[in-house]
Amino acid sequence: MPRKTKLIVTLGPATETEETIGQLLDAGANIFRLNMSHAKHEWAREMARLVRRQAAERHLHAAVLFDLTGPSIRTGDLDEPYELKIGDLVEFRKADAEASIPLSTTVNYPGMMDDVSEGSTLVVDNGTLLMEIRTKKDDRILCEVRNAGTLGSRRHINLPGTRLNLPAMTDKDRKDLSLAVECDADFVAGSFVRDAAHVHELRDAVDSLEGGAQIIAKIEDQEAVRHIDSIIKAADGIMIARGDLGIEVDFEDLPILQRRIIKRCHELSTRVIVATQLLESMVQNPTPTRAEVTDCSNAVYEECDALMLSGETSIGKHPLRCVEALVKIGGRIERSGGLGYGQQVMLRDERQKVARAAVTLADSLPDALLIVLTRRGVLANQVAMLRPRTAGFFAFTPREVVCRQLALNRSVVPFRLPFAAGIDETIERATDFLLEHDLVRPGGPMVIVSDLLSDHIAANSILLHHA
Ligand code: PGA
Ligand code: MN
Repeated sequence: MPRKTKLIVTLGPATETEETIGQLLDAGANIFRLNMSHAKHEWAREMARLVRRQAAERHLHAAVLFDLTGPSIRTGDLDEPYELKIGDLVEFRKADAEASIPLSTTVNYPGMMDDVSEGSTLVVDNGTLLMEIRTKKDDRILCEVRNAGTLGSRRHINLPGTRLNLPAMTDKDRKDLSLAVECDADFVAGSFVRDAAHVHELRDAVDSLEGGAQIIAKIEDQEAVRHIDSIIKAADGIMIARGDLGIEVDFEDLPILQRRIIKRCHELSTRVIVATQLLESMVQNPTPTRAEVTDCSNAVYEECDALMLSGETSIGKHPLRCVEALVKIGGRIERSGGLGYGQQVMLRDERQKVARAAVTLADSLPDALLIVLTRRGVLANQVAMLRPRTAGFFAFTPREVVCRQLALNRSVVPFRLPFAAGIDETIERATDFLLEHDLVRPGGPMVIVSDLLSDHIAANSILLHHA
């Protein structure tokens, strides 16, 4: 039985050669992420090209995801890092303001002084430095250090619970997005998406460049959690970005939020990715910690669509071992069953009801395959969100880009197939393909669901066919 949970790997210095990309594909990577917070344009272009070439050599449909930096707040450049002690006062000031105390740095977001309030928490560099905002002025804030640590240049700032008036996209994001379209990216991820309007803005930007990328919304703060329903409805996929989210909310809330978001994504038929620190210790070590194994298992048990590796594959020492570990964990937990949120998908139109009937039928027949014929991938997505339990679940589509975008959907294995004028012949072609590749045994039951045009009516049809 093929693995159901899809895998996203982030490319970086540890994985940037063509050979390694090929090895990652062989190990089971489905999607390659380019993190635009670090990637140079020439490098990203080259990586997208290598992924496409290596995937084509293997007849695989691997997708490329451009992850935009988004509107993040960063500290300025320092000549020397500051060594901070508990109780020290640190100043964060607008770029054009003069330092008023020795421990002072600029920030890249001048609106910060208006958005924050005295007494709230400021977190620097992924939670390594905690501070309390003591004094707020027009052009600066003074913060008291709560734990000892080092403040370096261009460190990321989180303001848990503070509502920020940052724009959805920065100038850099717009340039990166043009590059994504130029590279024919399959997915564009927006960081710090805070409401549905941000998702629409990203989509409009892709559309105006005539790109075909689908939009992933990264859920990274409380504001996004408050607007989760409208964001899920607006986006093509959701990423539970636990790195920032785990700082922006109380960390004990993180598992509850993860489960709640996964459930809501099922209900609304939107794909969902669990990201960050899945195998963090493997940046250094050749094997995962027991806690990491359990965390990954939990995400697979919750039946998310995909797991994402970040530093583990971009800068880690054991990128291939990380993919292998997820393949092992995924396969094992998938066999032991799942949480079953696929039962709670809201069936909002006829097509979704047809999809449900097909999945129920296929699941009830021993060793039946589930086949979807899909032009745009919409029906394949709806079937996949129902989390079928069949040993084989294949989608046929005439479009290569649809194949690549289905790389994000749990369970489904996409194949490109030119469709015939009539549905009968298309089914014959699909059946022949599966027989040729030993994916179905002669006479084996196949439940075929399609919404293809048949005699000029869009027929939502289910067919029980024998190969
Ligand atoms: P990042 O997003 O890796 O781009 O910060 C993921 C996260 O915050 O978890
Ligand atoms: Mn993040």
